[in-house]
Amino acid sequence: MPVAAQPRLARATLAAAMSALPYLPFTRPSIDEATIAGVVEVLRSGWITSGPQVRAFEEQLSRHCGGRPVRALASGTGALELALALAGVGPGDEVITTPLTWVATPNVVVRAGAVPVFVDVDPVTRLIDPDRMEAAVTPRTRALLPVDLAGRAVDRDRLYAIAARHGLRVIEDAAQSFGTRWRGRPIGSFGDLVCLSFHANKNLTTAEGGALVVNDADEAARCERLRLQGVVRLDGGEQEVDEAGAKLNLTDIAARIGLGQLAHLEAFQAQRAALAQRYFERLPAELGLDLPPADGEHTNWHMFQPVLPLERLRITRADFLREMHARGIGVGVHYPAAHLFRLYRGLGWGPGQFPHAERIGAGIVTLPLFPAMREADVDRVVDAAVAILAPALLPPHR
Ligand SMILES: *Cc1c(COP(=O)(O)O)cnc(C)c1O
Repeated sequence: MPVAAQPRLARATLAAAMSALPYLPFTRPSIDEATIAGVVEVLRSGWITSGPQVRAFEEQLSRHCGGRPVRALASGTGALELALALAGVGPGDEVITTPLTWVATPNVVVRAGAVPVFVDVDPVTRLIDPDRMEAAVTPRTRALLPVDLAGRAVDRDRLYAIAARHGLRVIEDAAQSFGTRWRGRPIGSFGDLVCLSFHANKNLTTAEGGALVVNDADEAARCERLRLQGVVRLDGGEQEVDEAGAKLNLTDIAARIGLGQLAHLEAFQAQRAALAQRYFERLPAELGLDLPPADGEHTNWHMFQPVLPLERLRITRADFLREMHARGIGVGVHYPAAHLFRLYRGLGWGPGQFPHAERIGAGIVTLPLFPAMREADVDRVVDAAVAILAPALLPPHR
């Protein structure tokens, strides 16, 4: 049945039936009982901040990252901050990044005293466009800061070719792409500085937390100093400080959650992929949604995000979010284009500069997708979206 022909009565009945269903959030962490018991054990152990759990977590993360040194941190934002420090980014430097990201990405550049240089995204992948990235390189460019939005890997071959041609550091904002592979290799297992986040909404969580993958023992040691006040512990209880560090260590409580999560990572990813597949199968083409690339090889399906065809709709994105919420379904917005925030307009950026990022940022919605979801939940989301969007579609232009 063509979606536009769905009768009103059926829609109303459906909505009423659905209101009895439990609220479906756009994401929810899966924490098993063994992890909860493990956290309780940590709480009872007498040592709750950084200690043996953090070391064990780092060891496992490193194994996941091909044996590279990994240091656990209090947040993904903290990982980006320390990566900028390790890359020597400071006042006057330019860092090339995407407007289509969580605002943490450009914010850390500003806070380092450097200048975020935005370039537009590829309209299909929604990731920073490598050609535009290279065209934006100037003598002041210090680093490239690509973002694996929704878990989809930025083309690492082209990224590192550009970095090599211009002698630039790469800071991968892989906050969303832990578990993603690039040509079969796990993100984090190769490349320059790789920043991970374990925020509650990410594929692997520690409630709040992050990690930085570095290149060698020297960078790892500097990362350890910078995450805890710059303190170096010497023999005999002596200490030394050469540079003012931050306060970004992870707690053992958080690390224990992460250890419990790692055991399920593969299963989580498999379920996410199955749910994404179900969305592709069930979302009717007639709705005119701009869907993400179907290729599942280079993503961990951190988010499933259609872009609403706003120019063809009688309703706004806010209307859509409200209507979905009324049906007991949570929908997120990740993300409005960052260069349009007042802070960045004040730095000289503005509307019209990045048409792809602006269109996507204005119409993007994050549909529910998390490992505890069932295919029936996807069907419920699709039915609700159809009920809201089909009657709101304007007739095609003649
Ligand atoms: C989550 C996220 C961050 C920041 O991570 P936190 O752990 O929340 O500090 C940075 N960049 C992107 C793209 C993110 O999704």
